Amino acid sequence: MIVASPKSITELKSIIAGHRKVLFVGCGTCVTVCLAGGEREVGIMAYAMRMARRLDKNPVEISQVTIERQCDNEFLKDLAEPASGVEAIVSFGCGAGVQAIAERFPDKPVYAGLDTQFLGILEGQAVWTEKCLGCGSCMLAEFGGICPITRCAKRLLNGPCGGSLEDRCEVDPEKPCAWQLIYKRLQAIGQLDRLEEVVPPKDWSTAWYGGARRVVRRDHQV
Ligand code: SF4
Ligand code: SF4
Repeated sequence: MIVASPKSITELKSIIAGHRKVLFVGCGTCVTVCLAGGEREVGIMAYAMRMARRLDKNPVEISQVTIERQCDNEFLKDLAEPASGVEAIVSFGCGAGVQAIAERFPDKPVYAGLDTQFLGILEGQAVWTEKCLGCGSCMLAEFGGICPITRCAKRLLNGPCGGSLEDRCEVDPEKPCAWQLIYKRLQAIGQLDRLEEVVPPKDWSTAWYGGARRVVRRDHQV
């Protein structure tokens, strides 16, 4: 999922300081699951913002709505009515959701209510960790399902740097050495021989360096 975290009320208050009528929009998918921008979180932030602005003697009228997915035009049409008459919109979706709403309402300011963090998983109670950088040509098969591009601090593709200590990464001892994990995993699945192959330089042309990417699935077009 896409993992995000809420902006502080202080930051958001400053972002919308000049507006008196604002729509807060939640998203029912990833950011609901990571407890950042679903219906519940939007409700709490709207309540807190009204209180904060009242205390500042700068009251604000906030309406709120949560749609299924902000990154899908199909659901954005549900915003037409709630967005009419407001001065600005705050999206509590990921960065893609914010931009999708901004494209849908070109005549209104649209602000991000969250800080989008990464593609990751829920690892423990209220703990999410990053697992994928979306490089565009997945190499997980070579590494036993553990991504060194994301999880090795040096993005090494041909073995460890040699600096790990007691299976911890030398760059950040809070984190496990990705190559220790890769070795153990390949050992467990009987594929240690994969490490004898030299991984050639990765083709980064599928990655993000050339600007925003696009996927066109002709097999799903009519
Ligand atoms: S190899 Fe690329 S696509 Fe696969 S998990 Fe790593 S960053 Fe993501
Ligand atoms: S200690 Fe391990 S995870 Fe950290 S940079 Fe070196 S090889 Fe990568």
